[in-house]
Amino acid sequence: MIISERKPLDELQEAVAPYQNFFLIGCGACATVCKSGGEEEVFQMQEWLIEQGKAVTGSMVIDEACHLLRAGRDLRHHKLAVQEADALIVLACGGGVQSISSQTEQRVIGALNSIFLGNVRRFGQYEERCSLCGECILNETAGICPVTTCAKGLLNGPCGGMEDGHCEVDAELECAWHLIYERLKQQKRPGVFARRVPPKAWSKRRKPGRHKL
Ligand code: SF4
Ligand code: SF4
Repeated sequence: MIISERKPLDELQEAVAPYQNFFLIGCGACATVCKSGGEEEVFQMQEWLIEQGKAVTGSMVIDEACHLLRAGRDLRHHKLAVQEADALIVLACGGGVQSISSQTEQRVIGALNSIFLGNVRRFGQYEERCSLCGECILNETAGICPVTTCAKGLLNGPCGGMEDGHCEVDAELECAWHLIYERLKQQKRPGVFARRVPPKAWSKRRKPGRHKL
């Protein structure tokens, strides 16, 4: 899930300042789950805009704002309210904001900052476990990602700073390589320690990413 959070209000204030009428768009997927762009947050944005002396022509929450076709279809369903707006405010990740801006000539204001691809520990508590590196080595590292969960992204074992199994960068965290070692030992296999992992081929993480089935 893409973890996102609302932009600081002073940044939003500056973004909305030149406009009077707004159409609001939330996302029913990730932004709803992490409570940054669901129904409730869209309503809160509406209340905040009214407090600022602005007007809201309408709002909607798209099932998945990153879905280009659905974004276009839902905008068409709200054509009049969208046209009455001077700007559209999108409470979705950067992908969602770009879906919307690719479907309209109108000014689009992103209201959220996208932070990382996150796992949900419990509501409101998210952890980054994968950096989408395009060359996954989890099968050799007992399902623990050193690229993301080692503070230095090391590929061939721990740095010299590990202490009692904890990370020298953040002592509250267990060292990713200590965890990998212990889990591989439990599984009775050498895993990644059987080879020297070459430097990461970041070319595999091409930008912009493209994938077709
Ligand atoms: S090795 Fe790469 S693809 Fe696999 S979990 Fe880590 S960052 Fe993600
Ligand atoms: S202590 Fe472990 S997790 Fe922390 S930077 Fe060094 S190798 Fe990575």
